[in-house]
Amino acid sequence: MGAENDELPERHSIAPDLCAQLVEGCFHFGRLGDGVTRKLRGHRSSVAPVSHGRLRKVVLCGVLGFPVSHSRSPAMMNAAFAELRMDWRYVHLPIPPALFAETVRALAASGYRGTNVTIPHKVAAHDLVDELTPAAEAIGAVNTLIFDDRKDGRIRGDNTDAVGVIEALGTPVAGRRALVLGAGGAARAVVWALREAGAEVAVWNRTPGRATALAAELGVRAVKRGEPADILVNATSVGLHGEDSIEDLPLTPSELVLDLVYGPEPTALTEWAESHGAKVVDGLEVLVRQGARSLELWTSRPAPLDAMRAAVRASSTSGQP
Ligand code: NAP
Repeated sequence: MGAENDELPERHSIAPDLCAQLVEGCFHFGRLGDGVTRKLRGHRSSVAPVSHGRLRKVVLCGVLGFPVSHSRSPAMMNAAFAELRMDWRYVHLPIPPALFAETVRALAASGYRGTNVTIPHKVAAHDLVDELTPAAEAIGAVNTLIFDDRKDGRIRGDNTDAVGVIEALGTPVAGRRALVLGAGGAARAVVWALREAGAEVAVWNRTPGRATALAAELGVRAVKRGEPADILVNATSVGLHGEDSIEDLPLTPSELVLDLVYGPEPTALTEWAESHGAKVVDGLEVLVRQGARSLELWTSRPAPLDAMRAAVRASSTSGQP
């Protein structure tokens, strides 16, 4: 499969490789929404040659984002399907915001069983679905779409980032003090998950007003400076691109440190935490855990965590799930 082109070509409103992936789904499953079908006319699948005589029923899943070609989720999910001996395939789905709703409906009607959703679509996905889990509703964002044509055709939305964080921490958090750094989308899921699991949560953010608003909405405390905590979670983007320094963060030594940010190398924050004797959990473990829960929602099979972990760690790119 070629690398996705996240720039829209002039003549088409959907990127060519995506057209190929959607067309493949169309050939396998017979129908796409009218609007998307019009835009796809003339495109042929470059993903796998289509045999018109004997169609192979590959079930499709993917990750919707823009850009999204950096995502490790296809490597992780395809390794899981191989381990489970399932004839399923997971692809990058680079969709610009203007085409998000139309594409989701087309995917649901063309053989996709579900998708993950990443930047910038998580709130749009929340607003679009027919049904939300309590986690997705409370967090206000959806990272997993579930399509099941065999049932009622309704599109369901969940947020597995929350449970992924708790499972990645790997220890009971009830009654523990947690300091969450950040007040963006990821912080919102982390704060909600920790609060639901019974932790005493404080939230700090570079722009204090956002921390105050998030804390008020989710019923936790906002703090203006760092304070001692058992669990420290970095849910800011510091460490993602290298230009921001961890000196921008109010770090206090903690027993357990989770850095949601990940890349090809250990982050400055995980190195700092290790040098202070903390137990460290990295963002890749959260990626694996949230992905495992998404996969279980689509397949109803237990996720093969070791295979997913190995694939994600072997994959060399960096970025969001
Ligand atoms: P977002 O909504 O854009 O929020 C970014 C947050 O980072 C804001 O709180 C922002 O503070 C803060 N920030 C940015 N630069 C900063 C600096 N120099 N110093 C201090 N704070 C700074 O992003 P998001 O979706 O919440 O994602 C945050 C990070 O989590 C991303 O790096 C993403 O890769 C990672 N993530 C990882 C996973 C995983 O599975 N491992 C899942 C989701 C997200 P202001 O409000 O002051 O701008």
